[in-house]
Amino acid sequence: MKNIVILGSTGSIGTNALEIIRNKKEEFNVIGLSANSNHKLICEQIEEFKPKYVSIGTEEGKRIIEEKFSEVKVYVGREGLKKLGQIEEMDIILVAVIGAIGIEATSEAIKLGKRIALANKETMVAGGDYINKLLKENPKSEIIPVDSEHSAIFQSLMAGKKSQVKNLIITASGGTFRGKKLEDLKDVTVEQALKHPNWSMGRKITVDSSTLVNKGLEVIEAHQLFGMDYDKIKVVIHPQSIIHSLVEYDDNAVIAQLGVTDMKLPIQLAFTYPDRIQNNCLDTLDLLKVGNLTFEAPDREVFKGLDLAYRAGRIGKSMPTVLNAANEIAVDLFLNKKIKFLDIYKIIEKAMDNHEVEEIDNLDSILRIDQVTRKWVYDNYSNLD
Ligand code: NDP
Ligand code: MG
Repeated sequence: MKNIVILGSTGSIGTNALEIIRNKKEEFNVIGLSANSNHKLICEQIEEFKPKYVSIGTEEGKRIIEEKFSEVKVYVGREGLKKLGQIEEMDIILVAVIGAIGIEATSEAIKLGKRIALANKETMVAGGDYINKLLKENPKSEIIPVDSEHSAIFQSLMAGKKSQVKNLIITASGGTFRGKKLEDLKDVTVEQALKHPNWSMGRKITVDSSTLVNKGLEVIEAHQLFGMDYDKIKVVIHPQSIIHSLVEYDDNAVIAQLGVTDMKLPIQLAFTYPDRIQNNCLDTLDLLKVGNLTFEAPDREVFKGLDLAYRAGRIGKSMPTVLNAANEIAVDLFLNKKIKFLDIYKIIEKAMDNHEVEEIDNLDSILRIDQVTRKWVYDNYSNLD
């Protein structure tokens, strides 16, 4: 029986994780859950899964939960997430909040030597060097990626030696606006950006997919998780999203992982690895129904998110933290209809141009640069021309 904590249990990844657990009650025990403002859903989850610890975004949420569940220990806000990262009895923490806010809880769980099932790519982008340093200092801890591409690479890396890897090949669906030109994207709406062709996900990552910033964040995530040079990380558009990513070896063998477009498989694998277990909620892949698998090059002129991320990643140090923070705020502004779609690129680029790179090897400096960047974007987004 594994004791599991889920940060972001009311989100897309969080609810998928609970679906897995619901079908495997004999394998997994939920001991911690967290949400920001969705009180109704987290209360239903507490009722069903009976966690000992909960973290919620506001004091009001805390009151609501405590009134209903006197036996549950309830924490609040950022500090609450951190507390859930410090639960001794847990075996695995699934970090599935959105944004760099996941970094503190992840750090705490690493210090306790726990397994991190990491969906929250922003943590690895904003603080990858620091997280890797912590992992080195705490060798009992490990990160098992949940992001489908990274899970696929993790699985494909089992076929050979790391020293004989030639390239990591990350696949991308191409997002909602694949094939569109700059002119077509000028006035696209939030509603259009949120219509992902293959995956059902939270709002932020869906916008990130449509800008290809998501793929850019994943390139940095891959660099940090697998220690691979940026020149050896390639991106290919694969509109069907059946091949989740590939590893090419020195002998030119290419090993891939395939599956349906459903995050439940990578989530479960992060819980059970090295075991692979049957679960009724996991669908089979029917290749005959899929029919065709196609590939194309990303349009880097239009979807600048990819190259902005390569640039930030290659510069390294504090620059990926800036890329991530600027993007988080830009997407939020776009979702709130304060800026246009293409302004997202402009904001990221200007925030990066404005930033003086510095070494960051501790949490305080990551959080400081994250905050400074967020403020800079809020102060400057309306006059970027
Ligand atoms: P969602 O928006 O669906 O869910 C986010 C979760 O985080 C919710 O539980 C939400 O609570 C909580 N949350 C949001 N803001 C805060 C905050 N300020 N403090 C505490 N909790 C907060 O996101 P996804 O599930 O789509 O994505 C989660 C992470 O997983 C992201 O990092 C994303 O990039 C990554 N990921 C997601 C994939 C997917 O298929 N969805 C695929 C690969 C990676 P509430 O409901 O109360 O707002
Ligand atoms: Mg992904």
